[in-house]
Amino acid sequence: MRNFTLITLGCPKNIVDSRNLIDSLTKEGFIYVEDFKKADFILINTCCFIEDAKEESIEEILTAAKFKSDRILIVFGCLSKRYGQELKREIPEIDVLFGIDDDSKIVEYMQRFKNGVWENIKNHEYTEEPPSYRYIKIAEGCSRKCTFCVIPDIRGKFRSIRPEKILKEVEDFIKSGIKEIILVAQDITQYGKDLRGYTLKELLKDLCQINGDFWLRLLYLYPSDVDEKLLQFIKESNKIVKYLDIPLQHSEDRILRLMGRRGSRKEYLRKIREIKEAIPEVALRSSFIVGFPTETEDEFHNLLDFIEEVQFHHLGAFKYSREEGTIAYHLKGQIPENIKERRYFDIMSRQALISLEKNRNLVGREFDALIDYVEADIALGRLYCHAPEIDGVVMIENPLNLKAGQKVKVLITEAYDYDVKGVLV
Ligand code: SF4
Repeated sequence: MRNFTLITLGCPKNIVDSRNLIDSLTKEGFIYVEDFKKADFILINTCCFIEDAKEESIEEILTAAKFKSDRILIVFGCLSKRYGQELKREIPEIDVLFGIDDDSKIVEYMQRFKNGVWENIKNHEYTEEPPSYRYIKIAEGCSRKCTFCVIPDIRGKFRSIRPEKILKEVEDFIKSGIKEIILVAQDITQYGKDLRGYTLKELLKDLCQINGDFWLRLLYLYPSDVDEKLLQFIKESNKIVKYLDIPLQHSEDRILRLMGRRGSRKEYLRKIREIKEAIPEVALRSSFIVGFPTETEDEFHNLLDFIEEVQFHHLGAFKYSREEGTIAYHLKGQIPENIKERRYFDIMSRQALISLEKNRNLVGREFDALIDYVEADIALGRLYCHAPEIDGVVMIENPLNLKAGQKVKVLITEAYDYDVKGVLV
């Protein structure tokens, strides 16, 4: 009884946790299988950041429960940590629940099982990470106090991961042929605050010293902590892609204060101007919450004007999700679901036009592209302005001998709302 399959839901940080767990289990002699039919253990790494993520996790657990047969169903991660008792009560097919950072307990639990007989079951589509990029988690938890967010409660205070561990992990990936390293944490600008003098800049300097042809991408920077020195370093580095993901959450001062976020509309506009001046080719991504309690129509329209003024390359919008245990949960003036839905639709359709325009500006120009997937007649890759899974892609027809993980030059020929099309140069 050694085979296990693992389903990962949620953010890139969960992907990293799952990969680490797979490594630990493999070292202990367990075998990872993609096929449900061959698995003795089904592990589900859950997410509960927003309502949609919770629903997806629950659906996935229910599906696994339905096809479980004699297999052992193990659920862990954020949802399990937060709603463990409820899950166990509602889905008795779950054999055991773990929280976050419980790898050794999961390994120990699985080791207790001996041989068993396993049959039938459906295939599950588990997509492995492609051979082109890897997420590297550089910190755990978050110490900020955004009033809508459950992460600090679930994942605890911000803790930087030791630089030696990060550097070793990155070196190993680069040696194995990975061409893009994506640094993630709830807020990477906090990196090193607990490491006595070793900050994000030192980490980036050390990472840029690693030999090899690879891109470094930075995800999730807290706006007020993106400073001039960091921008200068990014500008001068030939490894860090000129792409910044800075979640702003809103543009209006009153709402930002209610959200417990630092900064104001004026400061955000100034920061974005500084970024664009320092790195003119920068691709900016941000995320915003619509329908936060008490958000008025005027404030929402001001938010639309703000995104029009800034012209982000990519934008993610979330309908405010009322999370138990948060300060915002208790705010009066919760916005009805149909209004949130409409605001979500409005902001996304406005952004679609902006993204299309940004993509049109790429047409006729040549870029390096990193290939993620190759099929018979099309390859999917990404340019510097595309983070995997959240942004668009570059589609390349007739890929001939292209392989996933390869870097190539492409000429962009067509633009769509989110994706672009190109030909090999
Ligand atoms: S910065 Fe705010 S929104 Fe992001 S994880 Fe921390 S508390 Fe949550």
